[in-house]
Amino acid sequence: MSKLFICGTPIGNIKDITIRCLETLKEVDIIACEDTRQTLKLLNFYSIKKKLVSYHEHNKKIAGENILKLLNSGKNVAYVSDAGMPCISDPGADLVALARENSFDIEIIPGPSAFTTAIALSGLNTKQFVFEGFIEQKKRAEFINRIKYEKRPTIIYEAPHRLLKTLQFLSNELEDRNLFLARELTKIHEKFFYGTIDETIKFLTENPPRGEYVILIYGAKNDENFDEMTINEHVKFYLQNDYDLKSAIKNVARDRNISKSQVYSVIHKS
Ligand code: SAM
Repeated sequence: MSKLFICGTPIGNIKDITIRCLETLKEVDIIACEDTRQTLKLLNFYSIKKKLVSYHEHNKKIAGENILKLLNSGKNVAYVSDAGMPCISDPGADLVALARENSFDIEIIPGPSAFTTAIALSGLNTKQFVFEGFIEQKKRAEFINRIKYEKRPTIIYEAPHRLLKTLQFLSNELEDRNLFLARELTKIHEKFFYGTIDETIKFLTENPPRGEYVILIYGAKNDENFDEMTINEHVKFYLQNDYDLKSAIKNVARDRNISKSQVYSVIHKS
């Protein structure tokens, strides 16, 4: 039976690819990719000649149907995104969902991802972290609500032309947190910068953004000791910080590791 192979490819350094991935790319019938030019560079480097079809954000409906047809006709298809691990902030996830809905076998061939690479390089406490990917422009307020009191580091992706605008937005909305900025990971111009949001803005104003960036936002320096608060005080804390009741309850449940209904029952009684 035919299979869809989801293949992780390099995020920069062309040699960061597994032997299994190269073997798969050689063996499948067709490679679906986000950008044929990008994938051709990789294939040429490894002397792999293969038919390519494009599957990206803007053609994913029709391209997805065509890939299903190929799978139905018994062809093995590999999918590679522009860089890194497919399905992490790219359209690969929709293709996997489509193949699953249609009961095709999927084999995963893991590869590097920009956010795991950045967090490993950062030297931060990485026992726990939050990955937010690209901030959805229409849901920026919700993003801030989620991370304002988040003690774990939060990782975001951003395009270079929007980077300064996004940092300006963070500077307006958060207390001056520390950041770790990683540029062009595994590439010739790899660079990183530690600083507060405002220091990072200053740095980027003097060194205009070029290339690809991962931003790690340090966790909130939250002096509030929730353990010493009652559940009611804890809910009040969030209400006083402009959260609506529903979000306040959700956050309290998360902070105390209890269910939302437990929080509801306490505030209901009072
Ligand atoms: N699937 C990819 C992964 O596994 O990380 C992410 C794809 S997403 C469309 C592209 C974003 O990832 C870029 O805008 C940038 O934020 C980040 N990125 C990808 N490669 C990078 C690199 N070499 N250095 C820094 N950031 C990178």
